[in-house]
Amino acid sequence: MNTPIYLKIDLSTGKSEKYIVSEEYFQKYLGGKTLACKLLLDMTEAGIDPLSPEAMIIINTGPMNNTGAPSSSRFNLSFKNVLTGGIASSNCGGQFGVMLKRAGYDGLILTGKANKPSVIEIVDGEFFLKDGKDLWGLDMEETQQRLPKHYGKLVIGPAGENLVKYASAGSGERMAGRCGAGAVLGSKNIKAVIAYGTRRAEIFEKEKFQRHIRRWVKLLRDHPMTGESLPKYGTAGLLNKANATFSLPTHNFKVGHSSKANYVSGETLAKTRLIRNSGCISCPIRCERRVKHKGKEIKGPEFETLGFFGPNIDSADLDAIINLNYICDLLGMDTISVAASIAFAMELKDKGIMDFGLSFGDPSTLEDALYKIANREGIYSDIADGTKAMSEKYGGEEFAMHSKGLELASYEPRRSVGMGLGYATSNRGGCHLNGGYLALLESVGVLSVDPQSPKSKAELTVLMQNVLEAVSSAGFCLFTAQAHIPKLFFKLGPYHPITRMTNRILKHSGGLIRLLLKSLSLMKFNSMLLFPHAEAVRLVTGIPMYTGSFIILGERSFNLERLYNLREGLAAKDDSLPDRLTKTPQIEGEMDTVVPLDTMLPQYYKVRGWDENGVPREKTIKRLGIE
Ligand code: SF4
Repeated sequence: MNTPIYLKIDLSTGKSEKYIVSEEYFQKYLGGKTLACKLLLDMTEAGIDPLSPEAMIIINTGPMNNTGAPSSSRFNLSFKNVLTGGIASSNCGGQFGVMLKRAGYDGLILTGKANKPSVIEIVDGEFFLKDGKDLWGLDMEETQQRLPKHYGKLVIGPAGENLVKYASAGSGERMAGRCGAGAVLGSKNIKAVIAYGTRRAEIFEKEKFQRHIRRWVKLLRDHPMTGESLPKYGTAGLLNKANATFSLPTHNFKVGHSSKANYVSGETLAKTRLIRNSGCISCPIRCERRVKHKGKEIKGPEFETLGFFGPNIDSADLDAIINLNYICDLLGMDTISVAASIAFAMELKDKGIMDFGLSFGDPSTLEDALYKIANREGIYSDIADGTKAMSEKYGGEEFAMHSKGLELASYEPRRSVGMGLGYATSNRGGCHLNGGYLALLESVGVLSVDPQSPKSKAELTVLMQNVLEAVSSAGFCLFTAQAHIPKLFFKLGPYHPITRMTNRILKHSGGLIRLLLKSLSLMKFNSMLLFPHAEAVRLVTGIPMYTGSFIILGERSFNLERLYNLREGLAAKDDSLPDRLTKTPQIEGEMDTVVPLDTMLPQYYKVRGWDENGVPREKTIKRLGIE
């Protein structure tokens, strides 16, 4: 079995050494965020400052990267979360992951701090630490233009250099947006990591694998989500759906519906601005929207960005959103966290607490504000620290829309309570994806499992979190998992009696899911209709990966990240949401329009095999084989 090879670089000394992942670790933790979390637990001490030289950042791929499997070119960055102090994993498209692998490494482990702005270069297994001072200060676009053309590139912008807590890192126009990866690289004086190589992927059962991916690509292309909606509208296609179900954050999550949402919807974007769609390497879905902006073609905004620079700040100006999205990408800032922090600043002004010169309904000041935030100018430096830090300084915790310190994504959980549970329990903070993305089963998909009922939400959340963890660990884009909602429901539509009956069955499926979670080790089969990911991993690596062990891998991953968070001092009290969501009904007087977190959390801990303090029980850790 060919196990992953990482390059460990001490940036303080410039020395490097190969780190060969053991067969045991490969089989147990596979790659991506799971293996990276295990290595962070093994190789770092508790309590270090995420922006100190002692901090470590792991940039890695999964076993599927560079194999040509569908949607498998993405790569991962794991590190101590700059916003939460817990675990961070941030996923990115672009060419870098594939090129790193072709250059001979499955991952890089970076520690220390370079003594001047630097560029890490990896070429066919060789490592060079080069002077990067001519690039320091440049935006992400210009930085990449100045680097060698055919290399895979991962760069930061001015926000990363200035340690903005939610600074992103990017490859091409794709971003590792969340949790502050750009700040960690900036703190190490690393402006760019570039890679080039020609190594081909080694595939355990090549012919079978190629047959498998041909069938899988067909399945993705034939599915209404991955073959129609995502290619046509991208994630932006969710905006009108979220608005229709009152789960679109509006006015800093005060309400969940905007009468002007359609002005900034995926449909409007497609009709009025779209040039073409595009996508990551080896992706048949191609969810990226290309739009025209000031005479040039750029990446269009995703659902989150449309929502947060649109209804959440009471704006319906699509051109402004396209521009702000582009500027965030130039400066290297996560659009979710910066826009959510801006919405919080606007509400502080509304309430007469603090005036940053930012007002709801007025996007005209935001371009200037983004530059000031990225450069930490004056009071804007507070916004660069994120919503949680601002609320600790100025007050307003009840409407500071974050969990654990990471700003919530663009789904209003009072009308999607399982999503609320997901936000609260997500290991990296208020993230929909790490949280299990129950909004897809409650408020923005074809199914709608009673969005305001806590019934079975603990079980569904655990299952979905585990599945998404596994998909990510292997190196697949999470959107591939959307093809497993049966096509039939899309054909019948959301109001058909069969769809409605399925919603009712899922609402009462808690017991069945608990049984399923306990029986996973018996599921020693693979199916194209369930998780083709598992069969692909088996055929590429030779690891006996089946549907059951694949979901267990996800469970192991989620528990590992929980253990990391506990080690860093996070606890059950941090599995929380702001009062606006748990105490203030979205519809006045209707108490079923809050997130009943206190009802769902104890059941969630139980299903996870954690004690009442949210600590994994010894038998859970043992069952998962975590040392
Ligand atoms: S679905 Fe979109 S984000 Fe995922 S790999 Fe394809 S193009 Fe990239």
